Amino acid sequence: MDLNIGPEVEALRQEFRAFFAEHLPAGLARRVYNGEKVPKADHQAWQRTLAARGWLAPSWAKDWGGTGWGPLERFVWDEESALACAPRANIPAIDLLGPVLIEFGTDAQKRRHLPRILSSDDWWCQGFSEPQAGSDLAALKMRAVRDGDHYVVTGTKLWTSHAQHANWIFCLVRTSQEAKKQAGISFLLIDMDQPGITVSPIHTLGGIHAVNEVRIEDVRVPVENLVGREGQAWEITRFLLGHERLVGAGIGPSMKLMRQVRDLLRRSGPDGHPLRDDVRLRDRAALIETDLLALRYTAYRVLADELSGKAPGPEVSVLKVRGGEIQQALTELLMDAAGLAGLVHPLSLPAGESLVPDDLAHLAQQFFDRRKLTIYGGSSEIQRNIIAQRILRV
Ligand SMILES: Cc1cc2nc3c(=O)[nH]c(=O)nc-3n(C[C@H](O)[C@H](O)[C@H](O)COP(=O)(O)OP(=O)(O)OC[C@H]3O[C@@H](n4cnc5c(N)ncnc54)[C@H](O)[C@@H]3O)c2cc1C
Repeated sequence: MDLNIGPEVEALRQEFRAFFAEHLPAGLARRVYNGEKVPKADHQAWQRTLAARGWLAPSWAKDWGGTGWGPLERFVWDEESALACAPRANIPAIDLLGPVLIEFGTDAQKRRHLPRILSSDDWWCQGFSEPQAGSDLAALKMRAVRDGDHYVVTGTKLWTSHAQHANWIFCLVRTSQEAKKQAGISFLLIDMDQPGITVSPIHTLGGIHAVNEVRIEDVRVPVENLVGREGQAWEITRFLLGHERLVGAGIGPSMKLMRQVRDLLRRSGPDGHPLRDDVRLRDRAALIETDLLALRYTAYRVLADELSGKAPGPEVSVLKVRGGEIQQALTELLMDAAGLAGLVHPLSLPAGESLVPDDLAHLAQQFFDRRKLTIYGGSSEIQRNIIAQRILRV
């Protein structure tokens, strides 16, 4: 590994820290630290603060209002924003769709959509998975039939994160039944503020309304909303998924959880002694911290490859599997260390009542919610298949 962070990026890190100290509202950071839900309006306000500083879109080119940063600057930004407990921006729009439009979109699409993402006027969600098409995404059935200057779209998307807040959705749709499965899929931008689109909530184990079913029935979508060519969506999706190869590692979120663990272990347990005196808790914390350090070094290796122009390889799957497992282990440790307080689920409390300190009240919710990490974005089983075939060659 040859990764020299260098004085310029280190100086940028200090600039990030100073910016967060000055501009990130303390109440908002506290909510993120506690794992509480952040209302959309607060997300928008924070996004606008970032946009005013020119830092809302770390992976976009400068010409389109992005930062123009390279992978190293983006990595340091992700670490520092997680450590500062800043809320994550509208990921489908900023991290996924923006780079896709800059690479494959028409000038009209870029001019129409990118500024409205930066101003936080439009909120996007990602419509890929369907009831019978998750791991096997190419099996998707949502169809788009050409009718003059429009496509008529019908089908169901499932597990669509934050669709209840979105006014636009980018979808993978089937435009050809004849072609090979992957070659019949196209990438379409759909305005959700129209009849024929129904968003229904799905409540997850954590009691959070974060995912939805999106039903689309006979909705007319102008042909100008097609990104790239008909049948090009598979190539676009590979670009989109490979674009942020370090995101799945979740290093920043794990560092933030590790900080929570350290804070909690400093507190007194039921016997009046600090929790860190419990050798089992201390041992678990040390093991996870070591795993996290190892993951960080693996991420640096991938980053070094990226900086030397090497295409993403199967090691990204290692980052995804270990990154998810480490976050899950951290939330499990937090629950165990908190004892009875860790069993208090906010949903089981009458509104406004608090039986435990605010920073412990959401531990159970976070614990359940983090189960998703080894499912979405390519489940751990699928990642292990990749590791077995392409790294271990079995
Ligand atoms: C919280 C959450 C948010 C999500 N947000 C979005 C979103 O915003 N947009 C979106 O499009 N999708 C989203 N998803 C969907 C996610 O990408 C899928 O859940 C994921 O791809 C798995 O697909 P599936 O749920 O259909 O499970 P399936 O593919 O049916 O898999 C079921 C089980 O079988 C295993 N399995 C499947 N195939 C194989 C194989 N070949 N070898 C070994 N094991 C296998 C899987 O690992 C899994 O354990 C989200 C999911 C979750 C949980």
